[in-house]
Amino acid sequence: MISIKDITPKNIKSFVEGYIRSFMIKFFQNKLEHIHEQVEERKLLVAERSPECLEQGQCKICKCKIPELFYADKPCENNPPCYPPLVNKDEWTNQKNLKSIYDDLKTNN
Ligand code: SF4
Repeated sequence: MISIKDITPKNIKSFVEGYIRSFMIKFFQNKLEHIHEQVEERKLLVAERSPECLEQGQCKICKCKIPELFYADKPCENNPPCYPPLVNKDEWTNQKNLKSIYDDLKTNN
């Protein structure tokens, strides 16, 4: 239980600071989760299809640093490409749902 003597300028500052930071982190995690998931998938696809890019820490074609390049919208420029372009949150949700249905069908057959 908070008493009146606990309400100090230092404690008020800490309270506001804590709530704002907590809110901001949750807000951006939620807003950017679909990007994070696609980047993780890109890492798996590249490990399978172009492991030399991961080993060298750069794209074998454009020489951009990775994993930073994986956060860009553009698809892999390899032929055939290792991964598709980044998509928005709705499209990503649709793709995950379709993949889940496809995986269920494969498991049940
Ligand atoms: S874009 Fe393609 S070639 Fe470039 S790092 Fe990624 S996987 Fe490798």
